[in-house]
Amino acid sequence: MQQALVRMLLVDEDISQHSQFAQLIEQITLQNHQLNWCSSFAEAPASIGAGVYDIIFLDSTLDHLLSRRILSAALTQGCTTPVVMLCDPARPETRDKALAAGAEDYLYKGSIDAEVLERVIRYALRYSTKKQDSDGPQLYFDPLTGLPNRQLFFDRLNHAISRVERDQHSLALFCFDVDGFKKVNDSFGHEAGDHLIELIAERLRDCVRRTDTVSRIAGDEFAILIEEVDNTTDVINVAQKLTELMAPPFPLNGHNVSIGCSIGIAVYPEAGEEVDSLLKHADLAKQKAKTTQGSAYLFYNEQMNVEAMRQLYQEADLRRGLRRHEFELYYQPRIALASNRIIGVEALIRWRHPVRGMVMPNDFIPMAEDMGLIIPLGYWVVRQALADIKIMDEMGMPPIEMAINLSFKQLQDDKFLEKITEAIYSAGVDPSRLEFELTETTIMTNAEETHRCMRSLNAIGPTFSLDDFGTGYSSFAHIQRLPINALKVDRSFIQNVATDGDDASIVKAMINLAHSLNMKVVAEGAENIEQMNFLRTHKCDQVQGYYFSPPVAFEDLAHMIGNDDRVAM
Ligand code: C2E
Ligand code: CA
Ligand code: CA
Repeated sequence: MQQALVRMLLVDEDISQHSQFAQLIEQITLQNHQLNWCSSFAEAPASIGAGVYDIIFLDSTLDHLLSRRILSAALTQGCTTPVVMLCDPARPETRDKALAAGAEDYLYKGSIDAEVLERVIRYALRYSTKKQDSDGPQLYFDPLTGLPNRQLFFDRLNHAISRVERDQHSLALFCFDVDGFKKVNDSFGHEAGDHLIELIAERLRDCVRRTDTVSRIAGDEFAILIEEVDNTTDVINVAQKLTELMAPPFPLNGHNVSIGCSIGIAVYPEAGEEVDSLLKHADLAKQKAKTTQGSAYLFYNEQMNVEAMRQLYQEADLRRGLRRHEFELYYQPRIALASNRIIGVEALIRWRHPVRGMVMPNDFIPMAEDMGLIIPLGYWVVRQALADIKIMDEMGMPPIEMAINLSFKQLQDDKFLEKITEAIYSAGVDPSRLEFELTETTIMTNAEETHRCMRSLNAIGPTFSLDDFGTGYSSFAHIQRLPINALKVDRSFIQNVATDGDDASIVKAMINLAHSLNMKVVAEGAENIEQMNFLRTHKCDQVQGYYFSPPVAFEDLAHMIGNDDRVAM
């Protein structure tokens, strides 16, 4: 670490933070340092602009908008001092925004320790020295595509590696090479070749998230840095998307030019823990990918190739299943305890697999979610359920309600509202007969987006229920504000309701809670008369479970509803 005096500024309106921060700084091995403190955002621009600091820590937990404004103003005024944003760990999106606004790095407030702090300071100081040595930002970008160049890419990769451990995510490095680029150059000329590179760059940029980096590192070679990787599936999905995006031909000089690509992937730390080893290994994997026909990607790590193959196979299997109509909906009746009548059903998907036989949803839904196939599969479920309602209506059966399970991923699809609305209207079914089941986790994650979606859908008729209630964590403040009609108490509580005093108290409390929130209670998985009696005594509204009926095929359901009077309990 430098021997020279390191001057630091902490901008934080929370007075209690200053001494804590100073204590942390004392613990690190910076020999000569001075920490100044600015306790007013109003004075921050002047302090930052003074240009006397080597590093600035800017709090963004009190007002992240204001902090970013201060940061942007400083950068516009030519501030070259690295700014490290102190972010709120409960709002990770503010971190992305801070980085996008030009913060050099970030720290999550509340989880800063001396080691992390030291690493951040070292990196920021190194980076700022490099910046001063260069001739300005244009040195960092490729003039043809405007993408970060090799130099900036290595910097970012270095940076990403330095924070990957503390973020508890991983990262992946992709080396991307255009197949047959020379042929394009030879037959169409260099200008067309350049244009093709621009078009490819555009598609690559579209393929990654804003926080990832696409860079042109040589003629027809690109490098892509994917951050915040949680598992191999994340990486396989990006690789898959990259090859798919390159498939449509490129318009070039009035011709449609098709190209292939070869991709080598190195994942931290399996394929290396440093820039050099990661690059070398991604490149090696790319060379190997080049030897196969057509577009291909290969991991440096053999085990990940096996995983990729397995996933490709499963994905193809699921897609084929969809194409060949191998899925079926089973229906499980819901009984109103007051009338002993079937008032609705829950649609539960089954996969009649040509080799594996009947496959249950727990064995394929998680996979379909990971691969994004839950989206087409989910639309199929909605359309099929609507079609079955129509048939029941045409058969003159009493108009029961239809509950449909939704995965978290389905709500993230941009087209969700539009498609569901379209499906409902084209089926001509009364939309208020539909109820969508969401789990607590779905409702509590990505709250704002999910809630907006729920309200819009509710506005056209369908209601919602909270599935597997009791197994997750819910904020009642949230639940109360949402169009939720019913709580579905998870089977695990119902199982022992007649034998375990604790579970009995919990279920009683849940019923009271639901009623005080003006919601109905549905008990899941009632299997015997004791459980039924308990639920009836404690004014549970509805039950669904093997005691009355397991999920059944549509034909059997129609029969059951026709003989509704036989419901004896
Ligand atoms: P879930 O939504 O909690 O559905 C209830 C599950 O409990 C069903 O399992 C049902 O067969 C089972 N069950 C009902 N009553 C009883 C009972 O008395 N005893 C016992 N032991 N089990 C009972 P299934 O059909 O295997 O579905 C499993 C999960 O798969 C569902 O749990 C749901 O999360 C998911 N799923 C099913 N269909 C779909 C779908 O169309 N879309 C989505 N996204 N998920 C679905
Ligand atoms: Ca359900
Ligand atoms: Ca459930």
